[in-house]
Amino acid sequence: MIIGIIGGGQLAKMMVLAGYPLGQEFIVLDPLPDAAAGRVAKQLIGAYDDPAMLAELARTADVVTFDFENVPANAVRNLAKQVPVYPSAEALAVSQDRCQEKELFTQLKVPTNKYACVDNLAQLQAAAKEIGLPAMLKTRRLGYDGKGQQFITAIEQTGAAWQSIAEQPAILESFIDFEMEVSIIAMRGRNGEIAFYPLVHNTHRDGILRISKAPFPDVALQKQAEKLVTPILEHFNYVGVLAVEFFVKDGNLLANEMAPRVHNTGHWTIEGASVSQFENHLRAICDLPLGATDVHSHAAMINFISELPPAESILAIPGCHFHDYGKKPRPGRKVGHATLRASLESRLQEKISAINKLLD
Ligand code: AMP
Repeated sequence: MIIGIIGGGQLAKMMVLAGYPLGQEFIVLDPLPDAAAGRVAKQLIGAYDDPAMLAELARTADVVTFDFENVPANAVRNLAKQVPVYPSAEALAVSQDRCQEKELFTQLKVPTNKYACVDNLAQLQAAAKEIGLPAMLKTRRLGYDGKGQQFITAIEQTGAAWQSIAEQPAILESFIDFEMEVSIIAMRGRNGEIAFYPLVHNTHRDGILRISKAPFPDVALQKQAEKLVTPILEHFNYVGVLAVEFFVKDGNLLANEMAPRVHNTGHWTIEGASVSQFENHLRAICDLPLGATDVHSHAAMINFISELPPAESILAIPGCHFHDYGKKPRPGRKVGHATLRASLESRLQEKISAINKLLD
């Protein structure tokens, strides 16, 4: 089976590595000549919506997926007429627009924070009055890792905030003073089979994910998350991995956003779960049975942002695994991660502290 991947970053690279044992072959499309996945798979160099490259992908691949949610949805829609593409262009399109995403949550009765879609300063000021402050202003499109976001605490700040997001169509959301952030990695196969990993507890700094820990030991919240995400999977007739991020507020879940792809908060599954999110995504899109999602005791993932620590210092910690994406260091860029495993939660925490010391 030959799998095409639009986008050749670290997510594509980890998919390729998961697919080798299954006998799968890969072809990735990415504009960067030194894309991370290009080291482990055949690469087409071109824009994500380059018609000639997409035609080549359709000719070569048996099934196509993507590792990046800003792939133009129309390109995916057209490609899907020639070769099966999972997840669907519809799921991709909704995840690209924060307003459509919130509207879907509302339609499917998935609790989320108060929000208003705004196209100009007057609408922003009216929304700030209606929703109340503090609030977060976010561009509707192309925002990630806290980029394109402004925290607003007073109505006088709306003008500057509007300018700083370059007056783009945006969403104003109530600011949630959450207890914690969690995510769930869900998946659905081509035959409709659904599975979930245990909830993951996530810690962000400067809007970027730093640490994910699993399992998050709250049976009631796990049930709540599975109940909220199932209608989203069914709505799209979804195929593949879907990640949904939640705020926990007063013991309940509020959906923040969804990603129709393998997700950073699921990287721990490579060494920390029976079958990784990458293999399960491939199983789902290739119509293979989904694999077990249970955790080996306690697992965590720590992102390496901007630069990598020396591999030997991470690997000297028992039960730690080192992942180098092969990307050039750059401020704010995710260049690798470590996975940690321990039989006791307290022991896991000690290992997290040991790595944090190396990163400071
Ligand atoms: P996002 O790009 O929407 O995932 O936001 C990145 C991070 O910013 C989140 O993981 C939160 O830590 C924080 N954040 C985003 N929106 C809100 C909000 N409405 N209230 C509180 N924190 C937020």
